Formats: sequence, C-alpha cells, structure tokens
Amino acid sequence: MDDQFTFDDDPRLISIRKKFEAVKARLRKQMPTQPFERFILPLRVKELDGNVVVLAAPGRFIQTWVSDKYQAVLSSHLSAECGERMEVQVESVLNLRTEAVEEPAAIAPPISDSASERYTFENFVAGPNNQLAFNGARQVASNPGGLCNPLFVYGKTGLGKTHLLCAIRGQLRSRLSQSGVVYQIGQEFTSGFVAALERNQMGQFRRPIETCSVWLIDDVQFLDGKTRTQEEFFHLFNQLSHNGKQVVICSDRAPRELSRFEERLRSRLESGVVAEMLPPDTETRIEILKRRSAELGMDLPADVCEYLAMNTPGNVRSLIGALKTFIVAAQTCGATPSVDLAVRTIEKQFGREECRKPDADRVIEVVCDRHSISVEQLKSPSRKAWITQARHIAVYLIREELHESWKRIGERLGNRDHSSIIHGFSKIEGLLSSDSDIKRIVQEVRRDLGLS
Ligand code: ADP
Ligand code: MG
Repeated sequence: MDDQFTFDDDPRLISIRKKFEAVKARLRKQMPTQPFERFILPLRVKELDGNVVVLAAPGRFIQTWVSDKYQAVLSSHLSAECGERMEVQVESVLNLRTEAVEEPAAIAPPISDSASERYTFENFVAGPNNQLAFNGARQVASNPGGLCNPLFVYGKTGLGKTHLLCAIRGQLRSRLSQSGVVYQIGQEFTSGFVAALERNQMGQFRRPIETCSVWLIDDVQFLDGKTRTQEEFFHLFNQLSHNGKQVVICSDRAPRELSRFEERLRSRLESGVVAEMLPPDTETRIEILKRRSAELGMDLPADVCEYLAMNTPGNVRSLIGALKTFIVAAQTCGATPSVDLAVRTIEKQFGREECRKPDADRVIEVVCDRHSISVEQLKSPSRKAWITQARHIAVYLIREELHESWKRIGERLGNRDHSSIIHGFSKIEGLLSSDSDIKRIVQEVRRDLGLS
C-alpha cells in the first residue's frame, strides 16, 4: 500500500478522519501532554482500506514508537468510535505536511511542464470544427482579461481541450510570473477544497487562485453534483471576474448540460464566449497526421495519410494512436509505409475482436494522456492524488484487459511492490460502482483504446 489516494468528496475517508480527530481529543485528556503532542498529535489518516486505517507518521522514529506503544490503543479507540472493529497501521512519511497530506491543489498543478511544451498553438491544427475555441484561446493568450472572458470550451474527450489550455499556459508563462497562471483539473480543485476545509486552511487554498491573473480550469464536469465545491468555485470565479482577471473553463459538456450544477453557476459559465469543439473534418485530420508524423520523424505518403484520416474511428487521440502504431509497425517489419500496412494497422487496432487488444504500453500512454501527465510521472514515486489515480486506472485496465501478473504490472509501473498493485486494482474496482468520475474516465480510456 504505498500510494496515497485521497478522493474528494469520498465520504468514508472524510468520516474516518473526523472519527480519528475525536479519538485524538479523547487521548489528549487521558495521556500526559508531552507524549501526546509528540506522538499522537502529528498523526494523520492517510487512507482507509476496508477496516484498515493507515495513519501517516512524520518519520520512522515516530512510526516505530507509535506502532510499538500505541497501535493497540488507537485501534481500540477507533473501533469504539466507529462501532465496528478497525485496525490501525502506521506508515512513516517524511515531511508529513507536504507529502502525506496533500497541499491544496492550486499549489501543485498536476500537469507536467512537458505538457505545456508539447501542446502549443503552433502544433494545434485549426479547422472549421474547432476554430472558435482555437481563436478564443489565442485571444486569451494575447490579451488575457479582454474580449474572451470568461471563455468556456466544451467538447467530447480527445478533441484538444487540454491541448488549448496548455498552449495558453505555455504562452502566458513566458510573460507572466509562474504564479500568474493557475491550471487546475476539476477533480484537483475539488480535492484541494475538501482537504482545505478539513484542515481549516481555506486561506491557503484560495490564495494562489485569488492572486493569479489567469485561472485555467480543465474538466469542470468533475464538480457536477458537488454542491459545496461549486459554491467555492462560484465565489472564486466571481471574485476573479470582478477584478478583470481571465478565467478559462473546459468541460466535456455544454453549460446547459451540466445538470447537477446550480442554475446561477450554469448561467455564469455561459456569460462570456462559449465555444464547442466537434470532431475535426477529414482535411483537418489529414493536416494533424502530417504534422504529427513529421514531428515523429516519418515522411508519411499522402495516400497513407488520407487512408488513416478517413478510416480511423474516434477522436484525435485515437487518430494519433493509430499513427504511432503504424509508424512502429513500419519500423518493426522494415516495410515501406504503404496503404496496405495502414489497412492492417487499423484492422489490428480497431478491427476484429481477436486482434484488437492494445498492449500495456499503449494502455499506459492513453491513461497518461487522459490525465495530462507524462509516463515518467506515472512511473515515479509521486503520491499526488491525480497521478496515483492514473496509476491505479492503468493497473486496473492492464489486469482486466491483458491479464498480466501483478508482478509484471508492478515492474512496468516503476518497479512497484505487487501488494500496492493489488491495492490499486481493488481501489478502482470498488470505486467503479460508487464514483461516477472514475467510471467515466475508465470508460473514456477504454473507448480510446478501441475496447468499447
Ligand atoms: P481533450 O482534453 O479534449 O480530451 P486533448 O487536448 O488531451 O483532448 O487531446 C488529445 C490528443 O489529441 C493530444 O495529443 C492533442 O495534442 C491531440 N489533438 C487534439 N486536437 C488536435 C488538433 N486540432 N491539432 C493537433 N493535435 C490535436
Ligand atoms: Mg482533457
């Protein structure tokens, strides 16, 4: 269990944290001040796994001491508080404030800087189906707080929304200071908000947003149905707009379709420029393939380009996936890139049941792409909630679809211990029935992989 996985609005975790605070309050009365403050006070609930509550202790010394002396008493108090048997485990986490307990999201944007370098206006192909969003984003980048404020961009997954946000971020970062642009994913905003509420750190949570010049918020649909988070969002949104600051929002649905958003927020979201992104037409798809293949170092024959553009099902992400598969296939068998090979590639990736399975690297790539993180971040020791989630989804899909052993999956994902891999799998398996965000992401990744 090496990964922290704090889910927002996860009622079980919130509830166990409250109960643990009650246990602390009781122990404060029962124990001498010094050991209480030294060993019990700094403990935090890191995660909940069935009836096992994992506590984070700042450093190995306190971890060992608590495990030896207090584990039993903590378990029994917590069991009494919960009305069922709970078991406590203690883990050591250096620098507990910043590692075990995530700082609010605004301080740690999940997107890698490499994404901003990779996703630029120059390598975005504009066409009739994304022109308005593209122009709006360019306007924002050259004149933040101007005509296109707020800018709301929506469209199905894989059509370039995150690409545009990163392009804005990349361009403005060179003009504004690092803290001038805040990029957040809806889910990170939610988790940052809930964590700040719990820890009474609202000021810290709000400050980076309140003081930025441009607030970019991706996948705002994650706030759907989360009333208190929406209230906070609404408040910050109004405050920034009032001060002439730029807000850009991306979503997989139009403001009107965010059915569990409050009406006043929905109408606020459409108070500026609203741009829909639709799947690109064939010409745009051909241009995307031309540019991408040149970036990838392949001189793609025109007929192959056309064939791939017209025959790859799905969004731009699948189109680029098909291109990469084609390039690898051509390199592997040393064949000349031909339409014939393109036909086989498409068939393999999207065609008949028996040969359409992607490989594990492809699963990892698509999961990373969906979370806008790099493969290195996925394999790194990072415990940031968003990265951990991506890692767990990758575990889940590799296991479910490719039936690889736990050990092999662990090796692929940065040489992780097999117990942490099993933990990740169970986490997603459990959340699929209770967490609509996770369910949606898994569905989208499956679709991008041609699995559904
Ligand atoms: P979304 O956020 O809408 O789900 P992304 O921005 O993650 O989609 O885009 C998925 C992939 O497709 C990225 O690799 C992105 O660079 C690429 N892409 C999408 N649209 C375009 C476009 N018009 N031109 C170039 N690349 C594109
Ligand atoms: Mg996106």
